[in-house]
Amino acid sequence: MENKTILLVEDEENISNVIKAYLIKEGFNVITAENGLKALELFNNEKIHLIILDLMLPKLSGEKVCTTIRATSDIPIIMLTAKVDEDDKIEGLSIGADDYVTKPFSPRELVSRVIALLRRSYRESSPLAEKLIFNDGDLEINMNKMIVKKRGKILPITPNEFKLLASLLTNPGQVFSRDQLIEMSFGYDYNGYNRTIDTYVKNIRLKIENNPKKPQYIITVYGAGYKFGGM
Ligand code: CA
Repeated sequence: MENKTILLVEDEENISNVIKAYLIKEGFNVITAENGLKALELFNNEKIHLIILDLMLPKLSGEKVCTTIRATSDIPIIMLTAKVDEDDKIEGLSIGADDYVTKPFSPRELVSRVIALLRRSYRESSPLAEKLIFNDGDLEINMNKMIVKKRGKILPITPNEFKLLASLLTNPGQVFSRDQLIEMSFGYDYNGYNRTIDTYVKNIRLKIENNPKKPQYIITVYGAGYKFGGM
């Protein structure tokens, strides 16, 4: 679980400090927020793998934070609440939380839930899996839903860009020529020049690569074509 960063959103300082200490002991990086607005700001600016989110927060409630994040991301979220009513539990899950812990709770229990949820969410992926995850969640590709995410956020990828990416992913590491990629992605009756593949690649790189000039996912093989290098 090393290198995983947890965003801990909790306005009660004592509780926050205790949870943080337990998480750090388990090897996690921990970023804390004491209100809902700060939580959203950190979520947008930091690379975060899981959120522990208190329900009752100043400035913006945990529910609002959760629904706002869920509009663009399926990052794992564990809700904390003082409410013990079963209806609240159901509501917490229906707004998109993955798990739910009722106060008072044992920090040990919370940490084991965190570890379990991270394991479920960031499973090792194989090329045949429906959901492919690369570099610890940096890039996520859902083959069935045709969704590509960068650090948990959905990218505006076009259908043709997705088809090209999916073709490369049929065999990561294998070099495909431009003609092969056109056939695999768009079919034989495609009416473009094979160099249009380069334009698609350029656009995809702008979206998925950390540095499009030094791509790590779509690699150019000079004189041959392209390969997917994210494995
Ligand atoms: Ca609170």
